[in-house]
Amino acid sequence: MKKIAVLTSGGDAPGMNAAVRAVVRTACENGMEVVGINRGFSGLINNEIIPMNIRSVSDIIHRGGTVLYSARCLEFKEEAGIQKAIQSCKNNGIEGIVVIGGDGSFRGARDLSLRGIPCVGVPGTIDNDIACSDYTIGYDTCLNTIMDMVDRVRDTTESHDRCSVIEVMGRKAGFLALNAGIAVGATTILVPEFDYDIERDVIERMRRTQKTGKRHFIIMVAEGIGGVEELARKIENDLKVESRAVILGHVQRGGAPTCKDRVVASQMGNRAVKLLQQGIGNRVVAMKQEKIIDLDIFEALCMTKSLDREIFDIAYEISI
Ligand code: ADP
Repeated sequence: MKKIAVLTSGGDAPGMNAAVRAVVRTACENGMEVVGINRGFSGLINNEIIPMNIRSVSDIIHRGGTVLYSARCLEFKEEAGIQKAIQSCKNNGIEGIVVIGGDGSFRGARDLSLRGIPCVGVPGTIDNDIACSDYTIGYDTCLNTIMDMVDRVRDTTESHDRCSVIEVMGRKAGFLALNAGIAVGATTILVPEFDYDIERDVIERMRRTQKTGKRHFIIMVAEGIGGVEELARKIENDLKVESRAVILGHVQRGGAPTCKDRVVASQMGNRAVKLLQQGIGNRVVAMKQEKIIDLDIFEALCMTKSLDREIFDIAYEISI
């Protein structure tokens, strides 16, 4: 391939810029022309395409968000929208695209690949909910942000003998809640993947720890469960512990990427271009046991990934 493009799509994640940088630099160093598409598939349809060179990606490796902007594009889910996108590729001489995003974006990449524009997906989402990959770009930064925020909440929770019921992101997945939950010493972690019972896992568990002298509590709740306001009220009613719901919200998405996210993004972006260079599309780059691999998009989208029960059980045993 002589000319490729790169876009970021779906929810933004820290480290996406490091991936864009790796894509642009790898392409340039291997004699390919490269353009950036602003605002994901929407920018492809609307021709928001900008030439990139080695210097266009200077000073972005340390920045959160995405310099290419991101968007959700409903039009692209319809055949007419896809056809517009393909026409735009033809008009701009784009022969292949690196799509950095979540599994929704990978479905878009699959649809383009099927219609003759080879695409390679790079997993970028804070939620770590892409089945084919052990790791997704942005996850480590987000975990550390949650940990930092909850450490701060804990200071005030402790000072007032309160309970903080904290909701973290993750869409339908509990990776963020579980791993941040163990890192902040949450008394209980509620995730969609594992059965829970509010009486048993929250109220009785808190009552038991109260008897051992505990006076302040962190309860970690995944976005996929929600209901933190109601839960805080119930705790206050049943246990007479002043309780507050804290929804961390979009603060979890931002900030400078951690070292891990910068390194993984650089590796994955590089691999994506190497595939396109060989004319290989319809692939997803992933991490398996600390190694960068790639696999077929169709296969990748059919895979499932489970939450680590062992970590959950350890949290239950030691955060008491
Ligand atoms: P993420 O990539 O983070 O999972 P979304 O699910 O919002 O985020 O998907 C991002 C974009 O990818 C959508 O706005 C749409 O343009 C495209 N997309 C999502 N799902 C599909 C699909 N089933 N088929 C084609 N394109 C899709």
